[in-house]
Amino acid sequence: MVSKYGTRWAEIPVGLEDWVANRQVSAHIRILNALTLGYLLNTAMIVIVFFGTAPTLPLALWAFTMTAMTAHRYAIGHSNRRNATREDPQAVVWHFDINSTILALLTAIGLIWLMPLGHADQQVFVGIAGSTMIAAAAYTMRTLARGALIYLAVVSAGMAACVLTFGISHALPIAILVIASGMLLAQMVMTANKLFIVRILHDRDLNASAETVKMLLNDYQDQGSDWLFELDGDGSMAGVSPRFASALGRDAADLNGRSFFSLFDNVPERDQLESHVTERRAFRGLALPLKKNMSQDDRWWSVSARAVPPSQGSIVRFRGVITDISQAKLADARVRHMAHFDGLTDLPNRTFFVSAIKRQFQTMHPSKRLALLLVDVDYFKSVNDIYGHPIGDAFVKQVGQRIVQCTQTSGLGGEGHIVARLGGDEFAILMAGEDVLDHSIRLAELLVQTLAQPFTIGDHTINSSASLGIALAPDHANNAQMLQSNADIALYAAKNGGRNCWELFETGMDTAVQQRHAIERDLRVALTRDELRLYFQPLINVETGLTTGFEALVRWEHPEKGIMMPDDFIQIAESSGLIVPLGEWVIRTAMAEAVRWKEPHTIAVNLSPIQLSSANLLPTIINALAKTGLDPARLEVEITESVLLNDCEANIAVLNRLHDLGVKIALDDFGTGYASLNYLRTFPFDKIKIDRSFVTELAERADCRAIVSAVISLANNLGMCTLAEGVESEEQLAALRSEGCSMVQGWLFGKAMPADHYASLRSAPDENSSKPVMLEPQKLLTPRIAA
Ligand code: C2E
Ligand code: CA
Ligand code: CA
Repeated sequence: MVSKYGTRWAEIPVGLEDWVANRQVSAHIRILNALTLGYLLNTAMIVIVFFGTAPTLPLALWAFTMTAMTAHRYAIGHSNRRNATREDPQAVVWHFDINSTILALLTAIGLIWLMPLGHADQQVFVGIAGSTMIAAAAYTMRTLARGALIYLAVVSAGMAACVLTFGISHALPIAILVIASGMLLAQMVMTANKLFIVRILHDRDLNASAETVKMLLNDYQDQGSDWLFELDGDGSMAGVSPRFASALGRDAADLNGRSFFSLFDNVPERDQLESHVTERRAFRGLALPLKKNMSQDDRWWSVSARAVPPSQGSIVRFRGVITDISQAKLADARVRHMAHFDGLTDLPNRTFFVSAIKRQFQTMHPSKRLALLLVDVDYFKSVNDIYGHPIGDAFVKQVGQRIVQCTQTSGLGGEGHIVARLGGDEFAILMAGEDVLDHSIRLAELLVQTLAQPFTIGDHTINSSASLGIALAPDHANNAQMLQSNADIALYAAKNGGRNCWELFETGMDTAVQQRHAIERDLRVALTRDELRLYFQPLINVETGLTTGFEALVRWEHPEKGIMMPDDFIQIAESSGLIVPLGEWVIRTAMAEAVRWKEPHTIAVNLSPIQLSSANLLPTIINALAKTGLDPARLEVEITESVLLNDCEANIAVLNRLHDLGVKIALDDFGTGYASLNYLRTFPFDKIKIDRSFVTELAERADCRAIVSAVISLANNLGMCTLAEGVESEEQLAALRSEGCSMVQGWLFGKAMPADHYASLRSAPDENSSKPVMLEPQKLLTPRIAA
């Protein structure tokens, strides 16, 4: 339904007539001054032009009524100037329209009356004055269309009638023109009025929806977890809500007018925010960190906003919503941290470290050099095996801490170093600088020393050491991968150089490493392809000259390289962990062999320190004893001093368990490596094997003879048997005999050979072979050390 007023031009929704009339009146009042002035001027001009021509009294009367009606119109406008006090706007419209009608009649009467009185030039003036008044009325009264149309109709009709009546030349064309232009103006008034109404109704709808939105948003403001904000044209905050202010712990008054951008840290997103706002572009989900002075904790806001059309009296140019995304950011940061940092040590992980190396290469200056140090804990696996994973983890953590400490206290500019845990017991340090060669070597020295100090974890004291490999760039590598693999090669060299040391990469190292890799690869298959052999070397009693036992020495029948000696593959087996299955094979094979021998000789088996740390060792020996039925007293295990290094309690516990089983324990290679007579007191060894190096130089060097003599007498005092290794000559034998050495082994008596080389090792007839014996149940129990 629309009002009668609207049907003809613009549709005015029912109930809005007053509102529309109000707007029309307001619009007209805005132009009323011009209209008033225009009429007064026109009236005055007409009076001036016709003064003396027209009779004075009627002219004055006409001018007076014109002026009075114009003033009346002005008065209507003035008394209704204020929107709020206009009680009946439609009535005001009526007042204006009546005024328009009277003005129109007065104008028409004036023109019709004056036209025949004047000369030709005065008539032209009347024509011009009439046209001007019609045009001016059409323009100034257009929002009050009814009055405007009456005015146009009356005045143009009056003018046309006047032209026709008083016989002016070309009267008809002039009259037609006057009517036509009047109609044209009427059409313009109708269109302008329609546009006016459409526009104000549209604005009204917009405002209404803005009001609704604002109401809804206010609601949201109060209940939601997000905040709304408004900015003026230059990005200052406007209309800050108490909720928004309290989110920042401020008063709204403090924030109003303050730059919105200044709330945030100077990150690229802040620049984006600034350019969006200044260029009035909408944006969404811009994540920004709040400045530290805005909040105690790290806080992030996600900001979305859009420009709002400028409206009168409002400075707001941008309106948006803020969501606190601190929690999500925190979770995100945690996930990212986890992806780049090791959970145990909180050091950067391999991923992070590798990309750090790559970055260094990308941004490498010609003057800058890099050093990569790889740190690997020696025998870490044993720590895990012996103490279990929780202690192993704590150990790794302490290793990490020591490495970090070393980089920080070394005075080598550790701030710029990156220490990472690459996995397991592997750590790495990346240094950048000019003097990286010197610095990395000094740091490596410090690390080797520091990591060889005992670790205390709970009640345990763990003795350990570490090996390091160093590679430099651009000296040894021109890319990240090459640097890593060369540091790896150097580390490998350090491991093979006896561990507990560092190596700097050298060209040529890599071929050695490749060879070792090939051996490791072949050794893995050697175990399954049955390429290992056991050779036996006799052990001789000095006093009787009789063979009492044999030492089992492993050989590898390599399909291409032929017989390989243990010195060429045992270390590789140790560093690759293959020593455990290899050692188990030796234990089982040696025992299975020994039970077949004609004579009940002892059988000595070499155990590597890694085997001793393996939880499998005791079960393997116990099972082999049970399976073969070998008398445990015939079995002898040879261990080296490194097993006792830093008096490792767990290793001693294993040795005690073996002792309890009746197995003999021999200390091999005595006098080399970590030689100390004290070791003889740490464990009740059954036998001490004096290293070949002493025997070789026995004749030439008095100090060797003194040491051998001291060892033999101490061992004898402690009730231990002594065996001298590598006896190759009668002189050596004589000297050893005179020192009181109880046993000898060496080429003088026989080399390590396959079993059937020695007559006493040929298979015994069945009746002589040992029967399998049942071990006492408690001896078969799994070892206690794992607990
Ligand atoms: P080792 O335990 O000290 O063994 C003695 C080494 O000295 C043997 O070398 C033996 O052949 C050699 N030898 C014996 N008498 C003489 C001599 O009169 N003169 C000279 N020049 N050498 C002599 P082999 O068999 O090459 O073994 C080397 C090392 O390999 C062994 O030293 C031992 O530490 C290790 N090994 C050998 N077999 C095994 C094994 O089954 N397990 C483990 N873990 N290590 C083994
Ligand atoms: Ca040995
Ligand atoms: Ca030896």
